[in-house]
Amino acid sequence: MVNELPGPVAAALKAAVGAEGYVDDPAILAPHLAEWRGLFRGAAPVLVAPGSAAEAARVIGLCAAARVGVVPQGGNTGLVGGAIPHSRPGHPEIILSAARLNRIRELDAANYTVVAESGVILAALQAAATAAGRLFPLSLAAEGSCQLGGVVSTNAGGTAVIRYGTTRDLVLGLEVVLPDGSVLDRLRVLRKDNTGYDLRQLFIGAEGTLGFITAVSCKLFPAPRTSGTAWVAVPTPAAAIGLLAAARERLGDEVTAFELMSRLAVDLVVRHIAGARDPLPGAGPWYVLLELASSREGAHPEADLEAFLGWASDRGLATDAAVAASGAQQAAFWRVRHAMSEAQKHAGASIKHDVSVPVSRIDAFLEQAGAYVAGRIPGVRVVAFGHVGDGNLHYNLSQPEALAAADFLALWGEVSAGVHDIAVGLGGSFSAEHGIGSLKVGELQRWRGGTEYRLMQALKATIDPLGIMNPGKVVTGPA
Ligand code: ZN
Repeated sequence: MVNELPGPVAAALKAAVGAEGYVDDPAILAPHLAEWRGLFRGAAPVLVAPGSAAEAARVIGLCAAARVGVVPQGGNTGLVGGAIPHSRPGHPEIILSAARLNRIRELDAANYTVVAESGVILAALQAAATAAGRLFPLSLAAEGSCQLGGVVSTNAGGTAVIRYGTTRDLVLGLEVVLPDGSVLDRLRVLRKDNTGYDLRQLFIGAEGTLGFITAVSCKLFPAPRTSGTAWVAVPTPAAAIGLLAAARERLGDEVTAFELMSRLAVDLVVRHIAGARDPLPGAGPWYVLLELASSREGAHPEADLEAFLGWASDRGLATDAAVAASGAQQAAFWRVRHAMSEAQKHAGASIKHDVSVPVSRIDAFLEQAGAYVAGRIPGVRVVAFGHVGDGNLHYNLSQPEALAAADFLALWGEVSAGVHDIAVGLGGSFSAEHGIGSLKVGELQRWRGGTEYRLMQALKATIDPLGIMNPGKVVTGPA
């Protein structure tokens, strides 16, 4: 059931953003009320899309006065329910969309910075940087539809973290509308700025629970001139870790991506995704996608990769390898990697984990988690892949063919807790790059309890005392 807004509030919101920024047509609203994987569904009477920070401030000020919840939403590509309203009876929530905040305000090539509004699509920001001879390095599967404000609010990771860091490392400043409707202008483009508490960090990864980001200033990097991509068969995860260590020692900071994929993950892509081809059919149990990029004149990443992989196979770290001979082939390798989530949908229901452990413990994690899930769910299919250069694995489980989807999904809470226990026990995290949202609220309390959680509650209560920003997400309960 949808909580309606009081009439005067609805009229004031509409007046604040104009008719083009106010959507109450259920058919247009519908895709904004569900997450693309179908796990989270909510209800909201309206979506409001301000065209400026000033309009966003008016909207949030009105919502604060009327005690209406505000659920910020970017491209709605998240995986933990962070952008989907809850709407308990008597507590209406609106969706606050960044879609119309889509201008790139300033790109300063000499300063290696860009200032862009939160609704700019990630791919558009990458393209703007490229056109200026620069690189915006954040890269992830949803880049064609996710938005800058969303990736900053969730501190998204992606495939280039090993070289350039997470989103948090790329952000220099923010413009944020606070829960009382005031605007925090902290949009500086400085790399050195030691002036008290670093307030920007509070809002990165806060998933919209402390405010609504309207613009971001970001670091840029030199654009690579050349890149090389290899698809490498490795005998074990331990060999992959050895290969990574050697690559970093011998190829330096040109290592831009290091992705590990299980054979089953590759097989699902080849079987279910049109046009996908296995780069090394039947070659082994595990694969690595290794990419080098260089902005150096005269660099030859393909030749460097060939030489390195020859060295690695002499030492048993690789059993077979293909180095892409063209840009088209590089893209084909990446297509296999990026299609893994999509392909897994064709294998029935799945229980997904986004964990990280220290890189040196990846093989221990895979061994312990593999034994645990096989014991708990006989016949379960482990579809493991991820950004192993950062210690991040998407440890996904597809239902056994002999088990009904509902019976399998009923085990989600128990099995996830078990997998998270193993990751945390190895010094890892139960949420590497997807965030907390609704999905992991309980896990945050379980694993970040005590002083850390109390401090998060205190910050939430101080910045959002009425609790209107993204209610029920991330941190709950009184301080
Ligand atoms: Zn990922």
